[in-house]
Amino acid sequence: METIIEKLAHTHDLADSELKTLIETDKFDKELFSTADAVRRQAYGTDVYIRGLIEFTNFCKRNCYYCGIRRDNCNAQRYRLTKDEILECCDTGYSLGFRTFVLQGGEDEYFTDEVMCDIVSAIKTNHPDCVITLSIGERSYETYQKLRIAGADRYLLRHETATEEHYEKLHPKSSKLIIRKKCLYDLKQLGYQVGSGFMIGSPYQTTENIISDLRFLQELKPHMIGIGPFISHGDTPFANEPSGTFEMTVRMISILRLMFPESLIPATTALGTIKKGGREFGLSVGANVVMPNLSPKSVRKKYSIYKDKICTDEEAAEGVAKLRKSVEKAGYNVVTHIGHAKSYISNKGESDA
Ligand code: SAH
Repeated sequence: METIIEKLAHTHDLADSELKTLIETDKFDKELFSTADAVRRQAYGTDVYIRGLIEFTNFCKRNCYYCGIRRDNCNAQRYRLTKDEILECCDTGYSLGFRTFVLQGGEDEYFTDEVMCDIVSAIKTNHPDCVITLSIGERSYETYQKLRIAGADRYLLRHETATEEHYEKLHPKSSKLIIRKKCLYDLKQLGYQVGSGFMIGSPYQTTENIISDLRFLQELKPHMIGIGPFISHGDTPFANEPSGTFEMTVRMISILRLMFPESLIPATTALGTIKKGGREFGLSVGANVVMPNLSPKSVRKKYSIYKDKICTDEEAAEGVAKLRKSVEKAGYNVVTHIGHAKSYISNKGESDA
């Protein structure tokens, strides 16, 4: 008889009750991990795509209860990079082999449509062979459209949780799940490659919530799915909440790989933060992307969305060299092309040179 893992690998789906069993126990982990790795190798070989992360502002008008750069955290030392500093990060990244730049930040009103579009088009002018990913939160359809025209290709916006009641426990009333979801559909409609995702072990999260997250992802069909453990931050209302676990996060990476064989799944910095070598382990159980930090060393510690974040003490070049080595040691290869999702290439008929 077919095992539950074989069924998931063949059909890319399971009943809610089967998913619940799979999520809640470690007894399938061995088969789950090895099957996820086999499926990842079928789709992407041993390739690991690298994305250069530029955390360009930690000003934020939102007040998410879990996040260290929330508006009301007066202990956060706020900073924003200038256009020139951002361009410099891209130049450094380019010479290190990066062909995707991810501009991530809080929701900072200083970066109006005009300012943001100017930065995006300047990066594209300097590096026409590169891809730009934005991760700057909820904006209007019109703004997303302007940014797309200016040259942005991809957008990361985690839905955080697909369950209304859970969303309300993680955010103040002014933040609405329905708006977050609308943003994701707007981005898709505008032709962005879209990344969504959620935290593992966020306060009040149940297995049922996670199953709803998977169902939402099945409906949205994003190109990228980012998950990482919730890690508590001392200056937030969730300071005393327990963090998510490494075990649950890697189990979820493998489940995602089997449900979405062609998706891009990062081994996140948060995963490397809760366990030494965590990112490398993530790569061996289904993940195929890493996002090293290209932000200037002087601001690294200030982009503190959770505590004890790794890689805040080294220059970009050092970090990348170390990562390359450890990825190779784990049996994979860092590749430097733009690294689109398979699903995106087949839909667009494009080749990723
Ligand atoms: N302002 C942008 C970028 C947010 S930071 C946006 O709204 O999309 C990127 C992600 O970090 C968030 O989507 C969230 O899932 C994650 N994050 C925030 N606080 C965290 C914490 N304490 N532990 C782990 N991940 C966290």
